[in-house]
Amino acid sequence: MVVKIGKSRKIIIFAKILQYLMNLFSETNLSPELLKAVGELGFESPTEIQKQTIPFISSDIRDLIALAQTGTGKTAAFSLPILDMIDDKSRVIQLLVLCPTRELCLQISKDIANYSKFLPKIKSVAVYGGSSITDQIRKLREKPQIIVGTPGRVIDLINRKALDFSKINWLVLDEADEMLSMGFKDDLETILSETPDTKQTLLFSATMNKEVERISKNYLTNPHRISVGSINEVKKNISHEYYVVNYRQKKEALKRLIDANPNQYSIIFCRTRMETQDVADFLMQNGYAADALHGDLSQAQRDTVMKKFRLKNIDILVATDVAARGLDVDSLTHVVHYSLPDDPEVFVHRSGRTGRAGKDGISMALIKPEETRKLKQIKSQTKIEIKENKIPKGEDIIKAQVKGVFEKLFTEHEDFFEFDDCLIPDLSEFSKEELAHRLLQLQLRELALYYQHRNDLSEQKLHREEDIKESRRERGRRDRGGDRRMRKSRNTSSNMVRFFFNLGKKDKLKKTDMLDIINKATKKAKKRPDIGDIEILDKFTFFEVEKPFRQEILNNISSMKFKGKEMRAEVAN
Ligand code: AMP
Repeated sequence: MVVKIGKSRKIIIFAKILQYLMNLFSETNLSPELLKAVGELGFESPTEIQKQTIPFISSDIRDLIALAQTGTGKTAAFSLPILDMIDDKSRVIQLLVLCPTRELCLQISKDIANYSKFLPKIKSVAVYGGSSITDQIRKLREKPQIIVGTPGRVIDLINRKALDFSKINWLVLDEADEMLSMGFKDDLETILSETPDTKQTLLFSATMNKEVERISKNYLTNPHRISVGSINEVKKNISHEYYVVNYRQKKEALKRLIDANPNQYSIIFCRTRMETQDVADFLMQNGYAADALHGDLSQAQRDTVMKKFRLKNIDILVATDVAARGLDVDSLTHVVHYSLPDDPEVFVHRSGRTGRAGKDGISMALIKPEETRKLKQIKSQTKIEIKENKIPKGEDIIKAQVKGVFEKLFTEHEDFFEFDDCLIPDLSEFSKEELAHRLLQLQLRELALYYQHRNDLSEQKLHREEDIKESRRERGRRDRGGDRRMRKSRNTSSNMVRFFFNLGKKDKLKKTDMLDIINKATKKAKKRPDIGDIEILDKFTFFEVEKPFRQEILNNISSMKFKGKEMRAEVAN
């Protein structure tokens, strides 16, 4: 029988054949089911790690150490060849993937489900902490061939005899460096002892540090090594900038950088949980859609923050390195190093969170004058060109904001509410320039008022020695504690007045409370006051507020109460 094919149909078939041939995945010898799945996901050709890993896993039984960062396509790199080899008629666990966080665990199992879309007999179950163990045990009764899990929960399930790894063929240790730095070393060793010697172990890590080297030595046999997008490989589409700023002006400098880069969607990296919360509180108090992500939050709180960030309900996330790990977002416009990491690789890793999916990215580092040597070390080890910039002045910020408004006007258009055109008055007396001017003045009024009388941070003295002395003095003051502060006048910046406040740590006063109190005391003012240092001591507190707000603070604080206690503020001398 001859089937006649119309002209347009011929073109479609030809295009499909061409598309198939162009899909270089076909060179990997993966089964048609897998090729179809990756084709549907829009993967056109294998990434570098996939090019090297897929043929190796498909044909070699040796262990593997693969150095690759998140975002290089490593999940497909190990799961595609393994999915091709899994015996889907057998109902024993054949592949175990261990990873550090619940978020990564969910991501990997979602990816595996996508890749195995046309292999219906293959089942995978994700097991991770912070979620019902009985639900997970129920899912395990479906006899999956693949388990993706975090170490702690996997051990719990082994102890409950709900998991048996005695027959696995493949063990994947994903983000091994991260698992070890998160303290999973003993857990990993326990799990590894439950697996057979015959398995093939595939270790993926972004970095090769001593701990990873030790684990590899003890648990991998004669491993083959693959390294792609080496840790020093720097993405070309990220521009790197740094700003030198005194310790005491860091937050204000951050605010200016945020204001000078409107419409950003960014992560601000801090070193400690406390610093993270402190910076996030500062931004929230100043009206930014920001939040904190760190290990002191419960799993549920972290989930909420991540969800808000993914949905862009907040556009600035302040995070520690570890907490940000589990977050997979491709469209970050900026990464800010609020504090420099000790490890240059971490710097590259953080910066690499922006500039993804073919977009450009900006990485900005705030450094203290005494950190210039550390920055030099980062530059020389990573070979990244990091350009020094000056903290933008008020006028530059306004210019950037104006540009930002127009950028949004041309790229974003949504009808949030209905209104009748007859509500628009006759505007014919205005030229379009006048109209734009007036609307911008309205839109940027608060910001313009804020920057009207601000100092130019780029002209602050930044002599290294001076700053070191200042930070030593600062530390000394902190170590010596309260009384001396009362007697000794302090170096407040010229536009600030320093107050003594009668409550402190023993009254359960926190920085956020103090900010709240200052804001309430000055709520009738036309603009928000600039708030400087807040030092909460055991029995009392010092805080700095802009001079024009002096009288309002003195008058209003005494009429307020904190947890039922009288409050009193005096100018400190
Ligand atoms: P991973 O490093 O596994 O976290 O992957 C990072 C992102 O790259 C994921 O969103 C994958 O879906 C995507 N990806 C993986 N392989 C490819 C490919 N060959 N082509 C395009 N995108 C890919």
